[in-house]
Amino acid sequence: DSIGFAIVGLGGYALNQMMPRIDQAERAHVAALVSGNPDKLRQVGDAYGVPEDARYSYEDFARIAADDRVDAVYIVLPTGLHAEWTIRAFAAGKHVLCEKPMAISSVECERMIAAARRADRKLMIAYRSHFEPYNLEAMKLMRQKAVGDIRLVRTEQSYRMGPTSPSQNWRVNRALAGGGPLEDYGLYGLQSALYLTGEMPESISATTFRPTGDPRFAEIFAHVSAQLQFPSGAVAQLVTSYDSAGGNIALVRGTGGSLIMDPATSYAGQKMRIEGPNGAEFNPGDPTVQFARQLDHLASAIREGTPIRTPGEMGLRDLRLIEAIYASAKAGRTEKVAPDGRLRR
Ligand code: NAD
Repeated sequence: DSIGFAIVGLGGYALNQMMPRIDQAERAHVAALVSGNPDKLRQVGDAYGVPEDARYSYEDFARIAADDRVDAVYIVLPTGLHAEWTIRAFAAGKHVLCEKPMAISSVECERMIAAARRADRKLMIAYRSHFEPYNLEAMKLMRQKAVGDIRLVRTEQSYRMGPTSPSQNWRVNRALAGGGPLEDYGLYGLQSALYLTGEMPESISATTFRPTGDPRFAEIFAHVSAQLQFPSGAVAQLVTSYDSAGGNIALVRGTGGSLIMDPATSYAGQKMRIEGPNGAEFNPGDPTVQFARQLDHLASAIREGTPIRTPGEMGLRDLRLIEAIYASAKAGRTEKVAPDGRLRR
C-alpha cells in the first residue's frame, strides 16, 4: 500500500538531502519525476529506477492526472512557484506535499488550501522538524515543563551567502523567495518558538536590514530580527541572516533551567541538552529519519485519513506571522496579532 510520489523540481535539496533518504520510508516511494532538464531526468530516473514513461517535463505535467502510479506530488521548487504547481497538482487529482515555506504570501496559501478542498485531496507542508527525534523530544520536554515555565526563547538561523544576484539565484530574487532569510532559514526559528512554547504570539515587533550596493541584497533583506510576546508572558527573540557566520540554534530559558539545541534543526548532527536541576544530554534517535517519516505521515493520512500534523493551515499561519513581522519592521511599531496569525489593527 506504498504511496507513489512524483518529485517536482530536481534541485539541491531534492537530490542531495531528501531523495537519498526516501528508501527509509515504509509507505512511500518515488513513482515519477518532473524536471525541465532532460539530462537530469535520465540520470536521476535511472538512479532511482523510475520508468521512462514516468519522467515528465513541466510542459507534460497535466498528463500525470492519468498516471495511476502517482498518488501524491512533492513540490520542491523555488518558493514563488509553490502555489502554481500545488494548484496544478490538485487539478490533476493528486495529493500534495509542498516544501516550506508554503508560498510567498498568505493570499497564495489561502488559494492552495481552497484548491485542496475543491479537489478533496490532502495538503501537507514539509516541515521536517515535526518528524525529527530531537525536536519531537524537545516539544515533549517543554510540555512536561522540564525547564519550568518558559520565559524566553532565542533562535538564530544564519549563514553567509557567497556573491550572487537576483538573476543568478532564486533565493535572493523577491518574486521567487519573498523577503529573504526569514522565509527560508529563519522560518525554522519561528516554528521552534511556536512549537516549544506551544503558544501563538499576541504581538510582534521586528526590524529588517538591507545594505546598499550589494547585489545579493538588491531585492531581499540581509537580516531580520523579531520579538514575539506570548500570552503566558514568555518572549521569543528570533534572528536570521544571509550575511553572518553560520548558526542554527534554539534556546529556551524557563523558571527551572534551560534547553539548548545547537544545531537545532539541521539535516543531521543535532545536539541537545538541558542545564539546571533536570540537567541531561539527549540522544533520542537518528535525525535523518525526518525525511522519510514525513512521507510516511502523509501516506497514513491518505490511506487511513489520520490527521496531518503540518497541514496547509500551519503554512498559512506562518506566512501570516512573517507578514506581521515585515509589517512591524516597515511601520516601526509593535503589531498585535490574532490567534490565527492575522494582523489585528
Ligand atoms: P535549488 O535552487 O537547489 O533547486 C530548485 C530547483 O527548481 C532546480 O532544480 C531548478 O532547476 C528548478 N526550477 C524550476 N523552475 C525554476 C525557476 N523558474 N527558477 C529557478 N529554479 C527553477 O533550491 P532548493 O534548495 O532545492 O530549494 C527548493 C525548495 O525546497 C524551496 O522551496 C526551499 O525552501 C525548499 N528547501 C527545503 C529544505 C528543508 O530542509 N526542508 C532545504 C532546502 C530547501
